[in-house]
Amino acid sequence: MIILGWIILFLAVTSILAFNRAALIIFTITDAFLLLVFSVFSHASDVTLSTLWVIFGLLAIIFNVLPLRQRLLTRYLLSFYRKSMPSLSATEKEALTAGNVGWEGELFSGMPDWSKLQKIPAGKLSAEEAAFLAGPVEELCAMIDNWDINQRRFNIPAEIWQHLKKHGFFGLIIPKQYGGKQFSALAHSQVIAKVSSVSIAVATIVSVPNSLGPAELLLHYGTDAQKDYYLPRLASGEEIPCFALTSPLAGSDASAIVDEGVICRGENNQLSIRLNWDKRYITLSPIATLIGLAFKLYDPDHLLGEQESLGITCALISAHLPGVKTGRRHFPLCCAFPNGPTQGHDVMIPLDGIIGGAAMAGHGWRMLMESLAAGRSISLPAMVTGGAKRMLYASGAYARIREQFHTYIGSFGGVQEALTRIGGYTYLVESLRLFTVTGIDNGLRSAVASAISKCYTTALSREIHDHAMDIHGGKGICMGPSNYLAQTYIESPISITVEGANILTRSMIIFGQGAIRCHPYILAEMNAVADANEARGLRAFDQAIFAHAGYLISNFARAFSLSMSFGRLCQTPSGPLKNYYQQFSQYSALFALSADMAMLTIGGKLKRKEKLSGRLSDLLSMLYMGSSAIKYYELQDEPEMLPFVSWVCDELLVQMQQSLHEFLLNLPNRWVACVLRVLVFPLGRRVQPPRDQRGTEIAKLLLSPSRVRARLSQHVYTAATVHNPIGLLDSVLAQVIAAESLEEKLYHEGKRLKIKGRNFAEKVRSALIAGILTESEAQQLLDTENARLKITAVDDFSQEELANMRCGEA
Ligand SMILES: Cc1cc2nc3c(=O)[nH]c(=O)nc-3n(C[C@H](O)[C@H](O)[C@H](O)COP(=O)(O)OP(=O)(O)OC[C@H]3O[C@@H](n4cnc5c(N)ncnc54)[C@H](O)[C@@H]3O)c2cc1C
Repeated sequence: MIILGWIILFLAVTSILAFNRAALIIFTITDAFLLLVFSVFSHASDVTLSTLWVIFGLLAIIFNVLPLRQRLLTRYLLSFYRKSMPSLSATEKEALTAGNVGWEGELFSGMPDWSKLQKIPAGKLSAEEAAFLAGPVEELCAMIDNWDINQRRFNIPAEIWQHLKKHGFFGLIIPKQYGGKQFSALAHSQVIAKVSSVSIAVATIVSVPNSLGPAELLLHYGTDAQKDYYLPRLASGEEIPCFALTSPLAGSDASAIVDEGVICRGENNQLSIRLNWDKRYITLSPIATLIGLAFKLYDPDHLLGEQESLGITCALISAHLPGVKTGRRHFPLCCAFPNGPTQGHDVMIPLDGIIGGAAMAGHGWRMLMESLAAGRSISLPAMVTGGAKRMLYASGAYARIREQFHTYIGSFGGVQEALTRIGGYTYLVESLRLFTVTGIDNGLRSAVASAISKCYTTALSREIHDHAMDIHGGKGICMGPSNYLAQTYIESPISITVEGANILTRSMIIFGQGAIRCHPYILAEMNAVADANEARGLRAFDQAIFAHAGYLISNFARAFSLSMSFGRLCQTPSGPLKNYYQQFSQYSALFALSADMAMLTIGGKLKRKEKLSGRLSDLLSMLYMGSSAIKYYELQDEPEMLPFVSWVCDELLVQMQQSLHEFLLNLPNRWVACVLRVLVFPLGRRVQPPRDQRGTEIAKLLLSPSRVRARLSQHVYTAATVHNPIGLLDSVLAQVIAAESLEEKLYHEGKRLKIKGRNFAEKVRSALIAGILTESEAQQLLDTENARLKITAVDDFSQEELANMRCGEA
């Protein structure tokens, strides 16, 4: 009995220590004390007690005396690790060491410290940035006729180009000393989001010079001479840049490019590069004057040194050089931004055309990875957020304006389901975008966070567009100047494909890079293994591997106890979201444990098991998205947003539960899978989807001019200008809501008094004669009906007009 009691005490104390990640020395002292208790109170023989003390003493010495531990244990672990570690290509190594880690590292710890999330400062626009949004950006939006741009001329009008150049839209990221605006990532994102709420084509033209491309690369790696020459020309729009990486044989696997540069002697015996390339899909290439080119550099005559193959290199090439061929265009989903191939045949450039000069020859991949880490979370998430917010703004209003079966369609449960998803996902897209760009402004360059932001904002935006189209019915389908949906609906796969197509991003990059970059110990272990200094490597490996073992044991304890208590055992901030903080803490521990067990049982082959790593990626991404949703709510301080954040968190938790379930179903080692299932789902799968009532609350807030609707459609261009088909929505919405009680009266009283009329106007007139309506009420109803017809109307065309449209051309 005493022994059983002692075992229970031992397990309980060990679990508490493991749960709280106690240091090894604390474990040792506590275990010594427990053994002392056992020695005093148990009736075990002296021999048994002596044996136990000897075993304990030996283990305590081996584990706590570091030189002994390294000699007796770590040496062997190190050689085993070396044999089983996955081999990494040079480009993979560069990608893994690029940038840094933010909140996602905390989620990977299995024990997120929410106070750190709360301390992340909110992003804020400067007065200059706010004025730019309210001035030149607003003016630009008023100038855009998106129908004309995409369907008639398939080009951006000259006056828009002039406006962009005049107001410095191409220099948002360029420092003031070079004539740029030097805006924050937040301001940059807000500008793109606002412009994209009117036109993806124009937003793309603004975004490319400001994202991954010559300016970004020059800023980080350019020589002073290159910066002094190019940056002012780029900021003013004198040079139009493009960046050419993708080629016919190298799409997602961009490191497989075959485009090459050979070092040779050019004019006047000057060291030069002879370039040959064939690139496709290059945005702005048809009109670019300056091409940022990625190619593989070779030095067969050893003009630079011993090395023959120098690796991927980035250089700047004037599009006017002999041998450069540009101008032809691709036709990306009817969207008029210039995109096309570029080829170069024996193009000669001086060696100092390399970005950063000769010293940066062969460092192109690292440059691209580091710049992509930041850029990927600015342009594309901003671009799709503009569209998503516009869908939210329009769909809520339309569902209130459009009537069927004598009531507005937003009152039907089915339509509310679609509206709920639009509301919840738009809330999530906005919070994810802001959370990640604020991170950039706080100094983060996280490849994992930017991949999550790009992948999920673009995927969710596509879903938002689907639901918006469903709510609008035929109004969404029939294209024309008054259709505010179809163009962005058609365009939505573009952002999913570019800057890393989403399937690859989800199944390979987010977890593949995350597992190594965000895991608290793996990168340290890999660096220690690769250390050429054997003694230093052994010491570093010893530190990392034993800390890793402690982390694993702790996650076992945390996963089980948090699953049993639904996360209630952990310390979290209080308030209306306490329950979600707790459940995300629980899932952080479940994810950390599952990730470690997958790596331990599958090893290096895990990176090829994309269906498994994709589910781990879902878990990490949803934890990150849940954190961003909570952070957004805490920053907004807007109680009306509570249904949105709780719907989003419930939805994410259900999806995490499903991903974890599927991960366990498919983990190859079935014994480990069974043990894990007991630990992570000890009471079964208990997370429930959001209740319908939550959805109804969200839908109602979108069906009328609520504060939360205004907040979630902030920076959407809604002015009632001639080319802005959503410009009238708000005023008609207000008109329709004001007339609803009259419509009710007309319907019910008219029915009671058997009012007749072949159409609405006749019924109103009859109701006026019957005394149901006053003169002004009748007029109000007729005006409202006219306004409603204006919003629900669709365009029609003659056969000739259709034949002349660009998209109709064969
Ligand atoms: C409109 C547009 C603009 C672009 N602008 C530029 C630009 O300015 N500059 C530039 O250099 N490039 C540009 N690109 C190229 C873009 O970044 C690439 O298209 C993208 O990287 C994917 O390459 P791909 O289209 O050849 O697809 P593929 O590589 O053929 O991939 C097809 C599918 O397979 C998936 N896939 C591929 N490998 C894996 C894997 N290992 N695991 C899982 N899934 C995988 C992908 O996710 C994708 O879904 C642009 C592309 C488009 C369409």
